[in-house]
Amino acid sequence: MKPGEQIDLSLVIPVFNEEGNLGELVERCLKVCRERGRSFEIILVDDGSVDGSTVMIIRAAREHPSQIIGVVLNRNYGQHAAVVAGLAKSRGDVVVTLDADLQNPPEEIPKLLAEIEKGVDVVGTIRANRRDSFFRKFSSGLVNSMVRRATGVMMHDYGCMLRAYRRPIVEAMLQCQERSTFIPILANSFARTTSEISVNHAARTRGDSKYSFLGLISLQFDLLTSMSTFPLRLLSFVGTIIALSGITFGFFLLVMRFLMGAAWAAQGVFTLFAVLFVFVGAQFIGLGLLGEYIGRIYQDVRARPRYFIQEIVAGTEE
Ligand code: UDP
Ligand code: MG
Repeated sequence: MKPGEQIDLSLVIPVFNEEGNLGELVERCLKVCRERGRSFEIILVDDGSVDGSTVMIIRAAREHPSQIIGVVLNRNYGQHAAVVAGLAKSRGDVVVTLDADLQNPPEEIPKLLAEIEKGVDVVGTIRANRRDSFFRKFSSGLVNSMVRRATGVMMHDYGCMLRAYRRPIVEAMLQCQERSTFIPILANSFARTTSEISVNHAARTRGDSKYSFLGLISLQFDLLTSMSTFPLRLLSFVGTIIALSGITFGFFLLVMRFLMGAAWAAQGVFTLFAVLFVFVGAQFIGLGLLGEYIGRIYQDVRARPRYFIQEIVAGTEE
């Protein structure tokens, strides 16, 4: 493949200490791509591996010039950053991302491409028989339903990275300069049409998951903040509710004081609570207001493209 040449399909695969899987991964991906009989490139992004992965990637790229491209990052930046690095290097009309640990079988790629050919912008996948620990499945179910509610985009499984994107979506994502991203959500925000198909999921046979408990939590925060600034707004809601309940409580005390006498309200101790509630509520509302500004600053600092033109239609006069 010469530089600048049009390519049909790019695979982008982030690799972090996957020496046990790389050999088989490359072999199976090459087989699947070759069977299609169209131009392709496989981009292996080494995300600062400290095992033999880097050497293996370099060797694979030398062995299969014009088919495999190695992108070696200087240190570990995290899965999503590594994928972005791969996307930036990709040239395919369609880009498919997948994990290097063979949990996403490369044999499923043609299914995704068939779906893309129907004209959708982004194809997501649902892991049919997901082979992960109960804890992972449970927390990911929780997060998925939260994302669905917040974004209104009905995708079932945001965690599975076996996904296909059309070129314009990739270009739009590359225009986003933000540091912490969650690619499936970013892509959906630019897609006009999305669809989801069910794919097989394999258990990890070699190596360990690269996400520790803390790593997972930080990933969830990336997901949350890349999605919305709603939590900041939540502060005002909470504050309003606390302040309102303080005021209601105050009124209640006042009425009861007249009906039942001073002893009933423990000589004014409860009144203190009512006053406290109002002030605590006011503080929360203040925080929420700050949050509104911070949210706006965050949007501006992220500098996502303000809009994304998918197509320009202009009629010509006869
Ligand atoms: N990965 C990466 N950088 C990281 C962590 C993970 O490039 O900092 C890659 C990893 O090599 C694999 C993919 O991201 O190809 C998914 O990682 P993993 O299988 O550990 O995640 P899990 O399946 O446990 O969610
Ligand atoms: Mg995995």
